[in-house]
Amino acid sequence: MDPVSTIGTALASITTAADIAKLLIDGSLSLKNAEWKLRLADMAEALASTRQQILDIRDLVTERDKTISQLQEALSLKGKLILKDSAYWLPDEKGNAVGGPFCSRCFEIDHVACTLVADEKEPQVKCPNCKSTFCSKPVYYHLRPDAEEAHKKYNVMLSHLGTQRRHPMSF
Ligand SMILES: [Zn+2]
Repeated sequence: MDPVSTIGTALASITTAADIAKLLIDGSLSLKNAEWKLRLADMAEALASTRQQILDIRDLVTERDKTISQLQEALSLKGKLILKDSAYWLPDEKGNAVGGPFCSRCFEIDHVACTLVADEKEPQVKCPNCKSTFCSKPVYYHLRPDAEEAHKKYNVMLSHLGTQRRHPMSF
């Protein structure tokens, strides 16, 4: 819905209501009671229609304000974010990726910085906004450092087991 055309429709409804009011004022003596009621019903309908059109315009303006705010935020981030491991990151002063990770699809297409989340399937990550998924160990372990720590402990345990098996006394 275009707000300019909705405003035009609202103005037409107001004009209709005003014309009916003018007609009632000018010709009130010649109109019969039933005609009065009919004209008043037309006027009430035109005013109700105007009210709805103004509510639609308010929704459209609110939606545009939200879009403008998102675009301003994306514009301010555009020069700052870095692309690494299939995601956008906000770097610290040394250039290390610390903020985010943000969905590259949402940022490039919708201009929204949407933070990725770890999926149930390791090392898959997903975007809660566009629902896209991809596999990335660096992104996944950034989001789930506990999972990376568990992997390290598991690998250390495996390496100890391997050492013991190779030892002749362990058989
Ligand atoms: Zn996304």
